Amino acid sequence: MIDLHVHTNFSPDSPMPAERACRAAAARGLKILGLADHAEFLNEDEAYIADNYDGDKIQVEIERLRKMYEGKLEILFGVEIGYVRGMERDIEEFLKKYPFDYAIGSVHYVDGVLVSVWTRERELAGADFMPYFETVLAAAQSGLFDILGHLDYVRKYVFASGNYDREKYEGIVGRILDAAVKTGLAIEINTSGWRHFAREPYPGAEVFQRFSKLGKGVMGGSVTGVTGVAGVTVGSDAHKYFEVGYGGDRARKLLRNAGFESLEVFRQRKRCSISL
Ligand SMILES: [Zn+2]
Ligand SMILES: [Zn+2]
Repeated sequence: MIDLHVHTNFSPDSPMPAERACRAAAARGLKILGLADHAEFLNEDEAYIADNYDGDKIQVEIERLRKMYEGKLEILFGVEIGYVRGMERDIEEFLKKYPFDYAIGSVHYVDGVLVSVWTRERELAGADFMPYFETVLAAAQSGLFDILGHLDYVRKYVFASGNYDREKYEGIVGRILDAAVKTGLAIEINTSGWRHFAREPYPGAEVFQRFSKLGKGVMGGSVTGVTGVAGVTVGSDAHKYFEVGYGGDRARKLLRNAGFESLEVFRQRKRCSISL
């Protein structure tokens, strides 16, 4: 199994040393571990801002761990980018600075407001969450990323699940999935939803069922696709050692049921399929 979405103490919100994450991954029998620390592009988000991201230090640590775990665990150098509309050039420049294996594009801010706050304000005001999905669509169409992180993340913060009207977002989610297939962007199943009130990953099974129908060739097995093939990957969004690999087996089952036979991994920003 793989886990491509793990935060170490190079992220301000994780206490976990990278070595601890590797130890947990190896103990759980993971084959590939992707460390993907935060880099944000809004000045308001001081602690997480890309200017404070010390990619050289992370790279040195990853190289040390790669030697330590050689033959036991493959360690990938990822990053989770907080996508902000209008910051595309800055994100592009940032991604050139370090030898990343992949970049996860996630939406953590809508109109300059943190998603956790924004979602609750919208819900209390009786408004919908469409601007969030429009930002996700822009991220998917930007061509900047390899993986789209936690597609329907607003579900994490909704007070009452009844206030999240799935049908309302079917259209725009479809457009996001279309953009992903066209550009070779893999969709992450973010298993953290299983440990939140959402009780379902981000996104859930029905989105993957729709997605697998869009990408011809996936059913054939070991497809090394770039565009025109729906690609999926798995991330736990772990910030603590006991979350590394969390929900991996459930995710695999869910994806198989949805019609997938492969997972996407990225090395030096090249996509390649491994069997699911
Ligand atoms: Zn995120
Ligand atoms: Zn994350």
